[in-house]
Amino acid sequence: MSGKSGLDCDGSVLCGRPVLAGKISEVAEVAGYLWQKGWAERNGGNITVNITDIVDDGIRSMCPVSEVKSIGAVLPNLKGCYFFCKGTNRRMRDLAGRPMENGSIIRITDDCAGYEIVADKPVLPTSELPSHLSVHNYLIGKGSPYKASLHTHPIELVALTHSGKFLEKDVATKLLWSMIPETKAFCPRGLGMVPYMLPGSVALADATIKAIDDDYDVVMWEKHGVFAVDNDIMAAFDQVDVLNKAAQIYEAGRNMGFEPEGMSDAEMSELTKAFNLPK
Ligand SMILES: [Zn+2]
Repeated sequence: MSGKSGLDCDGSVLCGRPVLAGKISEVAEVAGYLWQKGWAERNGGNITVNITDIVDDGIRSMCPVSEVKSIGAVLPNLKGCYFFCKGTNRRMRDLAGRPMENGSIIRITDDCAGYEIVADKPVLPTSELPSHLSVHNYLIGKGSPYKASLHTHPIELVALTHSGKFLEKDVATKLLWSMIPETKAFCPRGLGMVPYMLPGSVALADATIKAIDDDYDVVMWEKHGVFAVDNDIMAAFDQVDVLNKAAQIYEAGRNMGFEPEGMSDAEMSELTKAFNLPK
């Protein structure tokens, strides 16, 4: 039986758990947007959401549907944590329609070095799991309320990183903020930059955490994609969406044959004061 959320309820852990079902439905909605925007070709992109605070005793006592798998790192702040993760080799467009067949709920083992899948099916999490979990471990350690991490391939933002000048600290941030006022209001920490590194590598995970620690919610991986964190997956998506919109406006100006002027420094600082923005 399918509810209006499109989630298959038969035998699913989501049955009778409207809060959890709503959270997974939000992930599915965002996965659909990523596909529609052309940011999630094939199995591109990842979503990981910390659902620990909405997991009940019934889920805590569930038998795992997989053996224990190693994370490849010890992440002490994740003790007792539960996550919903997109499955490895799964498509965002499939996750959009059938989230519990293309993603799964995992439980971190007590030694904080492994995890087991508890629901619904033994869908192995994304190969990027170690880096996503390392970021969640960092966020919890910092006392951050952020629960969601998103990796996707926004076309215009990735294109920007093919020019060396935009890789310098806050050059892209300033350009994108100046294209339309909402960008600074709704992505108030700007866009951090991480130089090209092998996808899925520990070095990339470490550099991403360092960039987030440098006070960014959205970090650009050179010639690859973005990594964004926020309270929930919709908010993480919104930050990437406003940034990419700004990049599209810049591109449109260039296509019309001129270098877009951008808002002035005075207009930007007026905005910062009016909206009480952090930078
Ligand atoms: Zn990627």
